Amino acid sequence: MKKGFYEFKKRDFLCSISNIESGTCNEDCKFCTQSVKNDIEITRYKRKEIKTVVEEAKNAKRHKAQGFCLVTAGQKLTDSKLEYIISLVHAIKKEDLDLKINACNGLATLEQLKELKKAGIEVYNHNLEASKEFYPKLCSTHTLQERYETCLNVKEAGLNLACGGIFGVGESHEDRISLFNSIKSLEPMIVPLNFFHYTNNLPISKNVLTKQEAFSIIKTARNMIDSAKVVMIGGGRESMFEDRQYEVFEYGANSFIIGDYLTTFGESAKKDLISLEKLNYKIAN
Ligand code: SF4
Repeated sequence: MKKGFYEFKKRDFLCSISNIESGTCNEDCKFCTQSVKNDIEITRYKRKEIKTVVEEAKNAKRHKAQGFCLVTAGQKLTDSKLEYIISLVHAIKKEDLDLKINACNGLATLEQLKELKKAGIEVYNHNLEASKEFYPKLCSTHTLQERYETCLNVKEAGLNLACGGIFGVGESHEDRISLFNSIKSLEPMIVPLNFFHYTNNLPISKNVLTKQEAFSIIKTARNMIDSAKVVMIGGGRESMFEDRQYEVFEYGANSFIIGDYLTTFGESAKKDLISLEKLNYKIAN
């Protein structure tokens, strides 16, 4: 029987991401290595070659990813970016990989999102990142309200919404509860939880969350945003949880990113798969 994308009540789901435009963002999010305002040494480029992205999609499929997300740096989706992303979707679809192609391209209009859906994008990821009270301390170049409106556009366009946040950036427990309430009001299908991975020169201090606090964040998200089908652990899994990283499933997560992140290396996908198998986790594929 062919399994549906989100049919993993007893299975865990893996997603892979491709940074198709890196480090070119003019916004000033303090936690983000992709902002040109944060003086971080990363590889910066405008457009990744189509054939490279197709190879990455094939590699994601080989490593049991069900979802493959096309991520761009930058405040918003522009029409030229939209054209580029649509050409990538067509090229990947030609390979018939049975991969769900997702997108994460910043603020977007309803019309742009409808175009993405028409091209075959299934999920649009747009995180609120932080509570409305705390967000202005992390970013001054756009507002949380703008992010919220894009999330509403995603839903109106008929796309599935992935909407989560980042933790360990100096937020309080109350901020997390406020963030989860805002996310809950959007009824996302997927809730990505990212844990801040400190890189030299970022203008905020290191993540001081303990593993137990981080597990408790996952549990709270799972309980509060109870309509979400997926709680996904995104960036920072390895540095946050170290040798306890697979315990995230015991606290309510049922998905994580496999392979590398946007500007940092992840655990080897092969090693993840071997570890999950040893621990008897079933991967939806
Ligand atoms: S808008 Fe997105 S890519 Fe740009 S700095 Fe903020 S988080 Fe990073």
